[in-house]
Amino acid sequence: MKVRTRFAPSPTGFMHIGNLRTALYSYLFAKHNGGDFILRIEDTDEKRFVEGAVELIYRTLKASGITPDEGPGIGGDCGPYIQSERKDIYNEYAKKLIELGGAYYCFCSKERLESLTDGAGNHKYDKHCLKLTKEEVAEKLAAGEPYVIRQNIPLSGMTEYEDMVYGKIAVDCADLEDNILIKSDGMPTYNFANVIDDHLMGITHVTRGSEYLSSTPKYNLIYKAFGWEPPKYIHLPAIMKDASHKLSKRYGDANFEDFIAKGYLPEAIVNYIALLGWSPKDDSEKMTMEELIERFSVDGISKSGSIFDEPKMKWLNGLYVHELSLEKFHEYALPWYEKSAVAGKYDYKKWDELLISRVDIFSEIPEKVAFIADFKEYDVGMYYHKKLKADPQNALVAVRAAEEALEGMDDFTHDSLNEAFAAAAEKAGIKKGLLLWSVRIAVTGAAVTPGGATEMADILGKEESLRRLKFSEELLEKAICNA
Ligand code: GLU
Repeated sequence: MKVRTRFAPSPTGFMHIGNLRTALYSYLFAKHNGGDFILRIEDTDEKRFVEGAVELIYRTLKASGITPDEGPGIGGDCGPYIQSERKDIYNEYAKKLIELGGAYYCFCSKERLESLTDGAGNHKYDKHCLKLTKEEVAEKLAAGEPYVIRQNIPLSGMTEYEDMVYGKIAVDCADLEDNILIKSDGMPTYNFANVIDDHLMGITHVTRGSEYLSSTPKYNLIYKAFGWEPPKYIHLPAIMKDASHKLSKRYGDANFEDFIAKGYLPEAIVNYIALLGWSPKDDSEKMTMEELIERFSVDGISKSGSIFDEPKMKWLNGLYVHELSLEKFHEYALPWYEKSAVAGKYDYKKWDELLISRVDIFSEIPEKVAFIADFKEYDVGMYYHKKLKADPQNALVAVRAAEEALEGMDDFTHDSLNEAFAAAAEKAGIKKGLLLWSVRIAVTGAAVTPGGATEMADILGKEESLRRLKFSEELLEKAICNA
């Protein structure tokens, strides 16, 4: 039988890392087994519907390279793939289930239901309407009395299944309630719609969060009442914010698009979340989608929650960034240059080579280039270097020599600068290392820079480099004089 998995998000907000991981594992499982991956939108809870959330789901899957074989806007034989368009289907099956004894109409008023709450605040429906005769039900329906349809849970006995990750899950029917399957507005609840759709869409493996682990036996009673074979289940461990808190969509934790906005690459996010709850059983970490598909297996899924570790994701993102072509790097980096203090001032292309190995996420760019724009009076103590025997006195010699050399240059490139600095050092009778050290500080005013004197002067250009060398020359003269 061909494997068919699905991702069934509810459009209730943004796409959080946990949702995306569910989609990913479902996709990886299907593709590893040569199967199909289906997207279904579970939008029956109108109160929680968020405008734009459906588009966000499509966008996120596309950006992540998780491509459904069937779904809204894609097509397939089992549509529609949006639950709000399947209302009639659910009602038809609910009626069948009533005939089969697996469900019943309930006409109880809100007041009566409220009165069923015991002293401890527990609420359990008492199957009151199950006692209605067929004629009584028909009369109430004909009179237009509002109703819901409830699941008829057996009074006793165990319901159980074998989860592919968590093993045997068993629940005592006595602990279950006759939940609502069809609401008074005719819309199904999740309890019902997930069963009908997974069955009608031929889903063979259901992959979803472990919060559904213990309600699954209840859904299986519906399969049983219809005489259907339930799918296999792969419940996934929670993703944790820290040892005791789950990542939460409600609190805006770990939202996919926020990470993209911070300068993460989608393929790095996907790679990172693949490892959040699954392990390839060796220490492979950087894996492409193809490798993930190839290696994914349910026995690598852990039962315990994994902590979302942003520094680790950042590190992994860096591995992807460092491998980009300079063209691609530039494409991603450009908006960040434009947001930085050097916006519009320099030829950003010159930065790319310097930064590609030095940033892990693109949002680091403004801070990495800020020192360039931020050139002001600095502490000349920075010039001291033990090994190079550098100090403000010989730095002044170096800065003057560099100034003279640059003034005579027309062609300002990496190579010509390198040569000019070598010649200037020789002429001044100082070591080239000392000259480069001093010039780098003199043109940046910073102790740490993402490149040496040549790269820095190249980025700054002739005019700005000379302006800064002069400024540093004066600063050094003043300091020496005052010493
Ligand atoms: N709509 C449910 C959710 O977003 C899907 C659960 C499932 O996959 O069955 O949590």
